[in-house]
Amino acid sequence: MLNVVLFGAPGSGKGTQSAKLIDEYGLYHISTGEVLRDHIKRGTELGKIADSYISKGNLIPDDLMIQILDDVFDKEANGKPGVVFDGFPRTIPQAEALEKLLAKRGTDLAAVIGLEVPEDELMNRMIQRGKETGRADDTPETIKNRLDVYHKQTHPLRAYYQEKGKYLPINGSGVVDEIFNDIAAGLEEKTGVKCRIH
Ligand code: AMP
Repeated sequence: MLNVVLFGAPGSGKGTQSAKLIDEYGLYHISTGEVLRDHIKRGTELGKIADSYISKGNLIPDDLMIQILDDVFDKEANGKPGVVFDGFPRTIPQAEALEKLLAKRGTDLAAVIGLEVPEDELMNRMIQRGKETGRADDTPETIKNRLDVYHKQTHPLRAYYQEKGKYLPINGSGVVDEIFNDIAAGLEEKTGVKCRIH
């Protein structure tokens, strides 16, 4: 399997670049944010719990999030050529759990693609997305908290994966296709896997 994490602050373009990775490498997409939003839409018990965290811009507790990921992986991703993890892990315990989850299934993480975008650009992109899509947590106050949470709880993963030699830094500002070309070139160098199209 070719398993990659798309890593970056909220608004860094993880969703957009995931879609391209899926198209061009034939990978399976797991976006924990989308899984949770789907539960909220369907009004499940889990959705009600998730909403109380998401609406404030806080993270779902690790134990619960890890359990959800485990279930989704077994239901949807087993037997696929690989997975793009989008929005997971967001904490060190989640990263450790991911490593165990993959090892238990005889596979591992090939690379962590880090989309790096300046803070003011992140803010503008999310405000714009909120206007265009009506996404409930793209409001100025919640965005501010999501960025704070990112810096405190998620950003330490950058050093964690750098130390493991897995981190692939990518300049996430600019034209979507050019950013994707940088990702494809970086992945090929790191893993030897060629993009289907490029
Ligand atoms: P996203 O769509 O990835 O920006 O996620 C939207 C929201 O879902 C986040 O602000 C969190 O509240 C929640 N969420 C998504 N993924 C995770 C995760 N790995 N750990 C904890 N909370 C998460």
